[in-house]
Amino acid sequence: MGSRPVVDLDKCIGAGLCTVASAYFQLSDDGKVMLLHDGDVPESDLPLVSDAAVVCPAEAIQLQKSGPSDGSANGKD
Ligand code: SF4
Repeated sequence: MGSRPVVDLDKCIGAGLCTVASAYFQLSDDGKVMLLHDGDVPESDLPLVSDAAVVCPAEAIQLQKSGPSDGSANGKD
C-alpha cells in the first residue's frame, strides 16, 4: 500500500508553492498545477510531497492512500 498525490484543479489558484516538489508538481501555461507523477510516491519522497500538500494555500493537493499493490481490490476508475 502506498500514497499518491491527487490535485484538484478547481481549487488550485496557481500559487506555485507546490513546486518545492518539482519532480511532482509544475505550473502549466494556464497557471494551474500540473501533476508530473502517476502512481505511488516512493517512501523517500513522501515527506517532500507531504510538504507540498501542506504549503498549498488552496488545499488543492491531497495524498491519497492507494490499495494493495496488485490493484485487484480497487477496480474503480
Ligand atoms: S501550491 Fe496549490 S494553489 Fe499553488 S499551484 Fe500548487 S496546487 Fe495550485
